[in-house]
Amino acid sequence: METITKQEDIIFRSKLPDIYIPKHLPLHSYCFENISNFSTRPCLINGATNEVYTYEEVELTARKVATGLSKLGIQQGDTIMLLLPNSPEYVFAFLGASYIGAISTMANPYFTPAEVIKQAKASNAKLIITQACYVEKVRDYASEKRVKVMCIDAPPADCLKFSELSSADERDMPAVKINPDEVVALPYSSGTTGLPKGVMLTHKGLVTSVAQQVDGENPNLYIHSEDVMLCVLPLFHIYSLNSVLLCGLRVGAAILIMQKFDIVPFLELIQKYKVTIGPFVPPIVLAIAKSPLVGKYDLSSVRTVMSGAAPLGKELEDAVRIKFPNAKLGQGYGMTEAGPVLAMCLAFAKEPFEIKSGACGTVVRNAEMKIVDIETGVSLGRNQPGEICIRGDQIMKGYLNDPDSTVSTIDKDGWLHTGDIGFIDGDDELFIVDRLKEIIKYKGFQVAPAELEAILLNHPYISDAAVVSMKDEQAGEVPVAFVVRSNGSTITEDEIKQFIYKQVVFYKRINRVFFIDAIPKSPSGKILRKDLRARLAAASRLD
Ligand code: AMP
Repeated sequence: METITKQEDIIFRSKLPDIYIPKHLPLHSYCFENISNFSTRPCLINGATNEVYTYEEVELTARKVATGLSKLGIQQGDTIMLLLPNSPEYVFAFLGASYIGAISTMANPYFTPAEVIKQAKASNAKLIITQACYVEKVRDYASEKRVKVMCIDAPPADCLKFSELSSADERDMPAVKINPDEVVALPYSSGTTGLPKGVMLTHKGLVTSVAQQVDGENPNLYIHSEDVMLCVLPLFHIYSLNSVLLCGLRVGAAILIMQKFDIVPFLELIQKYKVTIGPFVPPIVLAIAKSPLVGKYDLSSVRTVMSGAAPLGKELEDAVRIKFPNAKLGQGYGMTEAGPVLAMCLAFAKEPFEIKSGACGTVVRNAEMKIVDIETGVSLGRNQPGEICIRGDQIMKGYLNDPDSTVSTIDKDGWLHTGDIGFIDGDDELFIVDRLKEIIKYKGFQVAPAELEAILLNHPYISDAAVVSMKDEQAGEVPVAFVVRSNGSTITEDEIKQFIYKQVVFYKRINRVFFIDAIPKSPSGKILRKDLRARLAAASRLD
């Protein structure tokens, strides 16, 4: 559907009608609103141990954890950091914090100590919940700043035990009045430019986003209490937290938790638990498409395969379709700042629509989308590529303590500018064709060039540097660096790679280094990344 507003904006809306969204509810109340319909059904299944928690157990444990957190001194508006792989405790901690109006900031447990500490500091986390094997990363910081550290497994002597939280008496949970505009989740994202920033997602925002996907008569993403959803994507990324965990909880589905992707246990679990919904990212889709083991397992239970977080090519889509004979396959399009889902394939709707291969869905309900000319900002009609912008209650409140980045991402009329280039065709389907912004996506993980450039510039033998993405079959994209050596320096590619290697998580490691005389820049000093990408394309033709 398309309308023209007073300002001549051409606005695209969902093909499905808008729905009622209970935006006044705090996130946990919204997720458990219909729990009486499925209280004794499985809610979380721990794929590593086969332990099952029913809905009533999960809801009760979350309230106990909330009570325990408040006894530890965590108050409404405080932030806790989840430095954890996928686990039931992840869910209990996130929901427990929500009950008392606290905020969870989610960090990748594979982060280096410097990366974790940067986030812990920036988010002012009062408590870090982790596993014993990651304590070393935060021990010094925590003792210096008097931040508590808690482990979900056997803790070292100087740490707290998670099981003490969940043994609190839930009747002591403080009564907290939560305003829907309060923040509940604080993932980190670099957005369209610069360093990673805290993305403030509110109760109202996440309730709206989940409702846009799964509520109403003919939801975009039709899932129900008989479904088994595989939760293999990391819960520290908003795609998994929102479209798997929160959507699953809202509809009463069983959520099968896997700590990480390994093809054999992955296939075994799908077969054993008759998984029906597979939310994936393109590298997992690629692994499935390529694995000769897939034919040995019964995957016929899978009825929906979703791919998001990065582009999925048509060939890959076709290759994986064969592996899941009974599944509808399609893409979703998300961005952390957008809450995250902007568009979703309507093949997943209760009354499915035919969709085109390569499309990443149609805009979600109760939201507006426009495509704007990147030079003039004028909104464009169908089939004309431009920057994708979205407006609605689901988008972030802003970046934490960063009003400048907030106003350059959400304009005065409430439009969030994604930095992605796409167009909407005659059937309301959105196609993403390019990316305007700097961000590099390695297997769906974000790599912020600015972060790597800052590290490179710290090296005494490097006088200037720029990082851009390079296409890669396995990872989708990898970061590569253009480096200007300082006078007299003979630093090598390997030395630079080693220098970066120690300071960042594995997916941010520099894949190649190209030495140049000067980094191309605009008169205002902005790196001309397009020029560098063109050089890269030329170099790869010569390779
Ligand atoms: P993140 O905030 O980590 O979810 O990254 C968001 C970015 O990932 C988007 O702005 C896009 O550039 C990219 N992305 C997400 N989903 C898709 C998709 N289906 N196709 C192409 N790019 C995507």
